[in-house]
Amino acid sequence: MFAIRAPRLFDGDGFSQDRTVLVQDGRIAGLDDGAAPPGTPLHVLPEGTLLAPGFLDVQVNGGGGVLLNDDPTPGAMAAIVAAHRRHGTTGCLPTLITDRPAVLDALLAAAQEAVRVPGVLGLHCEGPFLNPVRKGAHREDYIRVPTDADLRALAALADAGRSQVTLAPERMPPGFLRALAAAGVRVSIGHSEATAEEVALAVADGATGVTHLFNAQSQMTGRAPGIVGAAMASDGLFVGIIPDGLHVHPVNLKAAFRAIGPERLMIVTDAMSSLGAAGDRFMLMGREVTLSAGRLTTADGTLAGAHLGMNEAVRNAVAMMGASLAQALVMASRTPARFLGLDGERGRIAPGFAADLVALTPDLDVVGTWIGGAWEAA
Ligand code: ZN
Repeated sequence: MFAIRAPRLFDGDGFSQDRTVLVQDGRIAGLDDGAAPPGTPLHVLPEGTLLAPGFLDVQVNGGGGVLLNDDPTPGAMAAIVAAHRRHGTTGCLPTLITDRPAVLDALLAAAQEAVRVPGVLGLHCEGPFLNPVRKGAHREDYIRVPTDADLRALAALADAGRSQVTLAPERMPPGFLRALAAAGVRVSIGHSEATAEEVALAVADGATGVTHLFNAQSQMTGRAPGIVGAAMASDGLFVGIIPDGLHVHPVNLKAAFRAIGPERLMIVTDAMSSLGAAGDRFMLMGREVTLSAGRLTTADGTLAGAHLGMNEAVRNAVAMMGASLAQALVMASRTPARFLGLDGERGRIAPGFAADLVALTPDLDVVGTWIGGAWEAA
């Protein structure tokens, strides 16, 4: 058992001052309750430090020079987690983009071992079951329609933490989406040209998410709401968004925040291997991606993921969306926890919750994190 002394604390709902958090066996055992035996080790955070629920990022392609597609193994995931941890992330879904069947097979084969890596909550398969019209930086030649064997393989993800599949519902065989969702995998609509009517059908079949709002999907116009309009009008869809100010114009970030609100909008980074790595270029699926002025692009100018950490994304949510700090922190932790069905154990600082925490300076630089009660300075 040990205790954390926090000058400021955000518990998932609101702020308070001068709190003591008791941690035992990787979980929060109490707050200010005096239950700590005399001599309990005390971790005192510097003056001004804010203690908050650790950030949860459901879309992480890489970090620390490692790209999941290049190495879909638990070891690579541990390296990616380490890079994102310096930005306050304590739980993520390593995300595989569209690739050859053998790469997806390798990822799925590693799923059970992967979720034993601290900080890996599950896996995210973004593709290959997408609409080529909205391929973004995905390779069109690897985009395909799923088979029954794919359904069986992906459904097994339901036993590997809290996993997610991004797909284009309008391209799926009848019954596929419903069977995948019924198996317990979170289905998110993305890289799709779906109409609002097709989104409604997908939701009726069990889809619960929208992947990176505005990017690589049908847009909202007056007579055609598309995925963007459907996401804004929805009561229940959880909506990922990349707040780097490059993927989505700041005015649209603000519009999305006002329409959707912090209970359904989730901050994701969509980060690539460049985060926490030296150099300004890397290979993505055989194509060179260049980092310039914070922007990752392929040779034809297509955005290829983001160069963004979660603490920077939270900062941007305040600056660009007009969110309060509390709302930004909710979009970075409590809301993704609810999307993942982890609202009873993550996204709050409360007894019984995981001791997955981030300590932040007043400027939202990361002081350090705890994952399962284990501290690491940033
Ligand atoms: Zn994408």
